[in-house]
Order: sequence, then C-alpha cells, then structure tokens
Amino acid sequence: MPVGVSNGAKRGGGMPAGNGDQSLTATRTVRRETAGTGREIGGDLCVLGAGIAGVATALEAAALGLRVVLVDGFPALGGQAVNSIVGTFCGLYSNRPDAYRFTYGLADRMLSDLDAEGALHWHETPVTPIVYYEEVALARWIERSVLEAGISVAVGAVLLDIRWDGRRIRSVDLATRHGTLSVSAAGFVDASGDAALAWEAGLECREPAAGPIFGSQQFVVEHLDETSLPSRNEMAARIAARAEEYGLVRHNGLAFYFPERGTAVINMTHVETPLDPVEASRKGIEGKDQADRVAAFLRSEFPGTFGDSRIRAYGFPGIRQTRWIRARHQITLDEVRTGTCYGDAIARTAWPIELHNRPEGLVWEPFGPDHVHYVPYSSLTPPGADNLIAVGRCIDGDPAALSSVRVMGPCIAMGAAAAHAFDLAGSGSVHQIDTAALQTRLSENLHRRDPLDRPMTRD
Ligand SMILES: Cc1cc2nc3c(=O)[nH]c(=O)nc-3n(C[C@H](O)[C@H](O)[C@H](O)COP(=O)(O)OP(=O)(O)OC[C@H]3O[C@@H](n4cnc5c(N)ncnc54)[C@H](O)[C@@H]3O)c2cc1C
Repeated sequence: MPVGVSNGAKRGGGMPAGNGDQSLTATRTVRRETAGTGREIGGDLCVLGAGIAGVATALEAAALGLRVVLVDGFPALGGQAVNSIVGTFCGLYSNRPDAYRFTYGLADRMLSDLDAEGALHWHETPVTPIVYYEEVALARWIERSVLEAGISVAVGAVLLDIRWDGRRIRSVDLATRHGTLSVSAAGFVDASGDAALAWEAGLECREPAAGPIFGSQQFVVEHLDETSLPSRNEMAARIAARAEEYGLVRHNGLAFYFPERGTAVINMTHVETPLDPVEASRKGIEGKDQADRVAAFLRSEFPGTFGDSRIRAYGFPGIRQTRWIRARHQITLDEVRTGTCYGDAIARTAWPIELHNRPEGLVWEPFGPDHVHYVPYSSLTPPGADNLIAVGRCIDGDPAALSSVRVMGPCIAMGAAAAHAFDLAGSGSVHQIDTAALQTRLSENLHRRDPLDRPMTRD
C-alpha cells in the first residue's frame, strides 16, 4: 500500500501520513569507520553458556552482588533445557520410596514460580521422581530472572578467542551478527557443555575414548488421546520388537506426557553429535529424519493414542557428552557406585548411570533407595587456569560417571558452587579458596532433605 494512503485509521485508529512527513522518508548514510573495532564490556564474572548450569551460575553470582555477563551462541537463553526441549528436571530428588529433594537455593524459586503458573508436573518413575516442565515457561522465567538480576546478556555470541594474562584469562572475544564483542572479567565460567572455553584456551580436555556418546533429537507431538496412554513397559516392548521394521536407530526410549495438554515430549532417537561443524550440521538433519520415523511408528503402532498426532516442534540437537575439561579430580564410575563423599563435595544426586554409548541402546544402572553420590569442587576446576571454573555437562568425570551427574538437578547445584567459589576467591585463585567455607555456604545442597509431598503420576 503506498505511503500516505494507509487505512490504518479504519483498522487501529492510526492517522494517514501527511505528504512531506520527513520521519517516513529520511535516511542517513553510514560506513564502518575503523576495521576491527568491536564492542567491549566487562564484569566480575563472565559465564559462557546459558544452559541451566550457566543460568544457575549467573543468577547465584548476581545474587551475591557480582557483576555478571552471560553470553551464549544460541539466539536465546536456556541452552538445551529450553531449546532442545529436554522436558524434565532429573536428579533433583533421591530415590524412592522416601524421596527428598537434593538441590535448593535457586531451584526453590524456579520450582515455586513455575509451579504457580501450572508449568510443572511431578511424575514418579520406577526409580525416582522427576519434574516435567513447559519449556516455553522456563524460557520466559529465565529471561525475566536474568533481567531482574541486572545481568548483562549477549546472545548469538559465539566464542572466537581467549586472551591470557599469566595464568588468568583476561578476556574472551565473541563473534556476533552485529560485529565482535570482547568481554573482560575477573573470573570465567565454562558452561558451554562442550568445554568450548577450556578448549579454545588451549587447556587439556577429555573425550570418550571408546566411541561417541549419542545425543537425541527431541520433539513434541500434539493431538494425543490421553485416555489410552501406553505404559512405559508396553512402549518399550513394542519399540524393541518393531524398531527395525520402522528404521528406528534406537530400540528404546520414552514419552513424557504432560497431563491435560494432549502433548508429549518424545525421546526415542540416537544421533551422533560430532564436534566438526559440517558433520554436526549434517547429523542434526539426520536426527530429524529419525524423529519423523519415530512419529510414524507411534501413529501406526499406538493408533488409539497417537493416531491423530502431529509433530508440533523439533528441539535443537540434543547433545549429551562430547568433550569436557580435565580437572584436578576426575569423578570415577567406582566413586559414583560407592557414593564417595569427597572432602570438597559441592552437589549431590542419585541419578542412575545413563550412558548412551550404543546406537540402539544405553547403559542404565539405577541405585538403591538410600544411595547418594556427590560432585567434588575439584572436578570443576582445570589446573591450568586460576580464574576458570566449569559447570554442567562439561565437568570432569569418566564417561559413565559423567552420565550420572550431567542431569539438571546437579547442574543447578554446580552453578551455585561456582558462584560462591568466585565470591570467595575474589582476585585470588579458584584453586586456593577455603573449601570448608564453600561447603558451609552450600550446606543446603549437601544436607537438607525436604520430603516430596506432591500428587504424582506413575508409570
Ligand atoms: C536428548 C537429551 C535428553 C535429556 N533429558 C534430560 C532430562 O529429562 N532431565 C535432565 O535433567 N537432563 C536431561 N538431559 C541432560 C541435560 O539436559 C543436560 O546435560 C543439561 O541440560 C546440560 O546443561 P548445561 O548448562 O551444562 O549445557 P547446555 O544446556 O548444553 O548449555 C550449553 C550452552 O553453551 C552454549 N555454547 C556452547 N558452545 C559455545 C560457544 N563456542 N560459544 C558460545 N556459546 C556456546 C550453547 O549454545 C548452550 O546454550 C538430557 C540431555 C539430552 C541431550
């Protein structure tokens, strides 16, 4: 429609533009003045990665009064918890039958806020309770919380380079669609999931030596009939029996039904998640092909429930374990199995060993009712830097051990630990803090045991 003849007045009360109105036609000519200039910002703490671990670190640090800069390569906050549609908070509770919560602090506020808006649902698996969440509500909760906390945010900012000052990282350079961004800070957190910061810094990292650990292409289906949901065992038996007929790579998997929504999050694919950019992109598309085959399987094998279902959304590729830091301590499978309580423990969980090390299946090793295993502070700290701490799925464990501590409950607790460690370290080294003082500050995440008293669905 030509300018000046808008019928906006009819539609929404707008006025037609007058001829000669400069605000509609004026331009100015611009050109980049100097090559290589970018935006520079600074803070006490720079957190690279805005998944659940990075967000927890940033919010806990801001609450302690630190000036925080939170950066992420995705164009939105929330990492995999939001963008890969992971679907449930795991590792937050001890095992049945007398489940109690392991992680507090930020988790209290997040759970109570999301619960108040009806965005959570508690479900009891055969091992432990888990919490289904609406990823859209979580995304908005994170965004609101980060702004309220006064955190500086840069999304769509991918790590390019790192500048050192002796044993301290001085600044990181990031590429954004609006030019480069340089962030300087007293402390840095690698919450990238793939140890991107430690890797770019030239520090030693670890990869699984026995082959890849598979990720999953999550997706949401809508238009389910909730009156005839197949049980977990029925579903498992049918996938195992018919997987090859439908071309399914993974021969097991789960559907998370959020009651009264007519939707489910489906976790039934196994996709490689290489660190090569071109290969990773190709595998991402193959993951969606797998998801489509799973959707076809569900429609024809369970027509009562899934007959009319459609895929409403595909998550970003779900990445479990790729590369992680080499820290002062590596958590071992044996330590997880025996529930070793380290002198520098900072988080706890009872989540099973969940190692997705085969295309068709995984190692699933649940623990007994009283089992607890811990995360030591020394598994978060790479020895080669004095002001770098890792959190989330890129801390140091052997592949099996890591598979049991990378779920979101302990990731939130690691964030609290990193924030308090930087607060204690000040301008000193993260390797020389008073760990007893750190544990005192994290006491709730190590000792408190609030029983779970909620209505829950069950398998
Ligand atoms: C398919 C799947 C299902 C899962 N199911 C569950 C479940 O039901 N419950 C549960 O609790 N856990 C589950 N997990 C595990 C859990 O989701 C993750 O381990 C956890 O979310 C990791 O959080 P994080 O913050 O460490 O990393 P991520 O959420 O991976 O966040 C890392 C962030 O760093 C950013 N980043 C990475 N590299 C760069 C870079 N170079 N520059 C800038 N930014 C960068 C990424 O964009 C990303 O946002 C699942 C995982 C997968 C893959």
